Amino acid sequence: MDKYEVLKKYFGYSQFRPGQEELIDAMLQGRDALGIMPTGAGKSICYQIPALMLPGITLVISPLISLMKDQVRALNEAGVHAAYINSYLTETQIEKAMYLAGQGRYKIIYVAPERLVSSLFMDFLARADISMVTVDEAHCISQWGQDFRPSYLNIVHMIAKLSVRPVVSAFTATATEEVKNDILCVLGLKEPRVLVTGFDRENLYFEVRTGGKKDQALLAYVKEHNQDSGIIYCATRKNVEAVCELLQREGIPATRYHAGLTPEERRVNQDQFIFDEKPVIVATNAFGMGIDKSNVRYVLHYNMPQSMENYYQEAGRAGRDGGRAECILFYSPQDVRVNQFLMEEKTFREDMTEEEKEAVKERDAFRLKKMTFYCTTKDCLRGYILNYFGEKARRRCENCSNCLDEYVEEDVTRICQDIVACIREARRGYGAGTIAAALHGSKSEKIRTYGLDRLATYGCQEAVSEHRLKEIIGELTAREILRSSDDKYAVLSLQEGAKELLNGTASVVMKFSKAPEKTSGPVKKQARAAEELDARGWQLFHKLKELRLRIARQDKVPPYIVFTDKTLIDMCLKKPKNRTQMLEVSGVGEAKYQKYGETFLECLKKEG
Ligand code: ADP
Repeated sequence: MDKYEVLKKYFGYSQFRPGQEELIDAMLQGRDALGIMPTGAGKSICYQIPALMLPGITLVISPLISLMKDQVRALNEAGVHAAYINSYLTETQIEKAMYLAGQGRYKIIYVAPERLVSSLFMDFLARADISMVTVDEAHCISQWGQDFRPSYLNIVHMIAKLSVRPVVSAFTATATEEVKNDILCVLGLKEPRVLVTGFDRENLYFEVRTGGKKDQALLAYVKEHNQDSGIIYCATRKNVEAVCELLQREGIPATRYHAGLTPEERRVNQDQFIFDEKPVIVATNAFGMGIDKSNVRYVLHYNMPQSMENYYQEAGRAGRDGGRAECILFYSPQDVRVNQFLMEEKTFREDMTEEEKEAVKERDAFRLKKMTFYCTTKDCLRGYILNYFGEKARRRCENCSNCLDEYVEEDVTRICQDIVACIREARRGYGAGTIAAALHGSKSEKIRTYGLDRLATYGCQEAVSEHRLKEIIGELTAREILRSSDDKYAVLSLQEGAKELLNGTASVVMKFSKAPEKTSGPVKKQARAAEELDARGWQLFHKLKELRLRIARQDKVPPYIVFTDKTLIDMCLKKPKNRTQMLEVSGVGEAKYQKYGETFLECLKKEG
């Protein structure tokens, strides 16, 4: 069998995704390889196909037990003999797995890095025919990354002990130069094929929503997408509790996840989410590593995360099956302060010097600023993300709220001059809200107490709403004409550029949304609309989903392991009538056909 046949037979796909083929070819030629690809790009297939084609066993090192379980389950469903060996199993089960492995029963074995120091396991490796060692989540070997795992260093010793050096391949979604170099050096990859694919995830729609009542907007969104599975990220445990309660009160099958729950509770909640019993999960950033639930249709952020790195990783958990999905961030300026507070509370590793701590703090503050600009920019959001990660992007992607929203451009130089004048005149530092209120001529207690109603600039922008004034102040901050202090008071001060504004040598043109001050309400362009299914098609899709859920519950596997959403959609489009046609559906391979093909054909016949 060649690689295309393997791809079709076991995974049910007829084409490789960008980068996959190059990496597979290198490994098949006995060359080391490093694949840097974003979440959802399809890294697993890159090593699973060579693993099936190389003569011996492939050992996959993976840090996460839940991930291993999922991968092995998916492989066995696809008809591949695979196993995992980790602390989740009892000693007897481990012995049995290793006995079977010794008999040549498995082509692919997943292990946790900690296992590599067990002498029993090393004895097994010494005798076994290991063709390839694959290091998944390879950034864990880098001391630069946030996820450094000392046990990953065991991999190098393990490889050195094998009688014949196998092919070594490594995969990660982290693209920074430091991490890449660490992987190459520490793992000792020999003349590897290094492949970095683009970080764009075309199937994801990005949106930022500002202002208004977050709770209402969030609830409306989740209700509107009640057929879908989604993740809602919050900055704090308290918010997770509150949002989860809000959803449950409204009858939405939601569960929650944060570090304050017992390990048992976390496991149960996570499983309920994965098995689609509770398709919505509200979580802190503690949730997600190692979750490869492929049918997550939306990732909402109730609060702004601390960095673009975090945001893209979390948002990237949507649409792993390649189907359309939405990533929406509900932003309020308050989020900046919450994050500053969380960053102040951060504990550092004990072995860090004061200097190193300062450097980390500075880096964090910088990242938070860049994250805030993402929330306030009127330019293409995808472009902003890609530029942040060092990639060039088209000016407009036509699949984010900024590209799809209609904007009007307005010269706001005059207003900006008044903002600057007001800040200068007020002398003592005030935040954006107070300055906006003074310019608008608010009669509030606060303005009078501070004596701001006696300023020459008081009320001079009466015709402009406070909300709009704050928006313009935000833009001036992003352009670094104003600076907002990093403490919780977020006090404004003037920067160099302010002078040019005042003396009339600079102007400011800003984009404003045509829909005035959009807050809640449905997303204008339903991302789904792009999918080619018509109303009847969707009906059929839901029928197939029900069938999938029944099978999944019966077989005790997550529904997306039976078939992904994308496969079901393809079924609805192609409406196969027999085995041959069914095998043409993307994601239907031999083994899956044997197991489920007939049942789905029957359902299609009945509903068709
Ligand atoms: P990663 O590990 O890079 O985050 P996965 O390996 O989990 O991504 O793959 C994400 C999804 O893409 C899976 O559902 C997988 O089956 C699917 N996939 C991978 N390769 C292909 C392909 N060539 N054609 C279609 N779907 C693919």
